[in-house]
Amino acid sequence: MSDSFDIAIVGAGPAGGHAALSAVKSGLRVVLLDEQAAAGGQVWRCKSTSIVSAPMTPESLAGNTLRKALAESAVTHHHDTRVWDIRREDDQWQLQILKNAKSSQIHARSLILATGAREHVQPVPGWTTPGVIGLAGATALFKQSLTLPGKRTVVSGTGPLVFYVASEIRRLGGTVAAVVTPNSRTDWARVLPAMALQPKLVARGALWVADLMLAGAPILWGHAVSRVSGHDHATGVATRNLARGTDGPSIEADSVCLGHGLIPNIEAAQMLGVPIRHDPALGGWVPEAEPDGRTPVEGLYLCGDGCGIRGVTAAGLQGTLVGARVARDLGKSSPKPSLRPWQRAARFGQAMTALSLPRPDLEALSTDDLILCRCESLTRADIIAEIDTGAASTNAVKSGRRACMGPCGGKYCQSVIATLIADRTGKDAKDIPPPTPRPPLRPIPLGQAAGAFDYDDLPIPKPAPL
Ligand SMILES: Cc1cc2nc3c(=O)[nH]c(=O)nc-3n(C[C@H](O)[C@H](O)[C@H](O)COP(=O)(O)OP(=O)(O)OC[C@H]3O[C@@H](n4cnc5c(N)ncnc54)[C@H](O)[C@@H]3O)c2cc1C
Repeated sequence: MSDSFDIAIVGAGPAGGHAALSAVKSGLRVVLLDEQAAAGGQVWRCKSTSIVSAPMTPESLAGNTLRKALAESAVTHHHDTRVWDIRREDDQWQLQILKNAKSSQIHARSLILATGAREHVQPVPGWTTPGVIGLAGATALFKQSLTLPGKRTVVSGTGPLVFYVASEIRRLGGTVAAVVTPNSRTDWARVLPAMALQPKLVARGALWVADLMLAGAPILWGHAVSRVSGHDHATGVATRNLARGTDGPSIEADSVCLGHGLIPNIEAAQMLGVPIRHDPALGGWVPEAEPDGRTPVEGLYLCGDGCGIRGVTAAGLQGTLVGARVARDLGKSSPKPSLRPWQRAARFGQAMTALSLPRPDLEALSTDDLILCRCESLTRADIIAEIDTGAASTNAVKSGRRACMGPCGGKYCQSVIATLIADRTGKDAKDIPPPTPRPPLRPIPLGQAAGAFDYDDLPIPKPAPL
């Protein structure tokens, strides 16, 4: 397959989906690419086709609306499609994609990256024990296959997601052993003014908490999971009261959901030369982009959580803004939507992000034998040893120890490693950028990257003169 479009969009979540719908109205040829089986992104993830019927939720309703609108539009949607490399050649964007195990190219005049976010898990002893899954990862299980993480689950983490996950576990018939959240009630009180901007979401959140209280599930405010017990499988957790610095209750469970906020997926933007800056209020390192998506790189636009964690409502609204902006830049007359609804939604989203930021008191729970880089089985002690020999950047730790070079490409460990470098060297977090991203952006079979070739055609370098 080799195709040419006016606009290529990577990511069919709320941001990319709405950008596509907004741009295609101007008669432009728009292609939407996503590795998932259907549009919807993380938050509006589609149910697996093997599930015949399931009660509707606000997320599945919103996802169905987006999927229907895309199906009825002129947008070309390639699902199950990984974008693994992007280059700029002859004023065109050239995207390498992998679909049905075959690599091919897509060309476009403009490119919108709507690559979303991934979750951050602050490692604690036992976090790699089977039975422990990510908090955001758990939502993928519920939404896609209505599967529970276990029978009796400790749900632990920061921000609102912890209450959503606990309430979904109950709705699907599981037991919540406890909710353990490092946030205190005071943390929540601080974000009340921003919460008032989205009363419907606040009401929904209040119902989640009320349901847990009625079910008698303990909510440990200001506590963290300090250790997951069990060898072959999780059998429970130990907790820590963060304010008092004392041990909290131990809780028996066969599964643990653990998560501490989201990190923007910036690798594609960074690889294409968009400057990045450190902004903790937006989830860490973010690429430079205007609210309407423009970046300092010509023809390249960004929207959604991939350019700062502002949440689902802001992601969709920004997608609409960006789609219209790109259409105008390509010479079409497209309406200029107001920025205000996006600004309002972004304020709410950022307040939720503020609750979810990594906390230094959780880092203190780490031990030296803790695995930080799961792909390469590197412990905290291994990384510290590398830093202490002079590796003062994530790139240096990567070259020295292969951290960030496994299948996850550093998605799990790079921010934890950056924090450790900051601690050991006394540098500021803003002076420790993520490692240089390189293709493939997503794992692909090596043969697809090499393409078709004949060994006889390979240039063989002449022997070096003696
Ligand atoms: C695992 C997870 C679960 C979440 N669950 C919730 C929730 O239940 N409720 C809530 O309010 N918020 C949730 N969030 C936050 C939520 O994702 C965002 O606020 C919202 O979805 C952002 O929309 P987006 O369009 O910017 O990104 P996303 O919805 O993340 O969409 C980005 C899309 O880009 C695709 N993509 C990225 N890179 C590539 C590539 N190289 N090739 C092909 N496709 C690519 C991804 O497959 C994804 O579908 C979750 C986040 C995560 C990471």
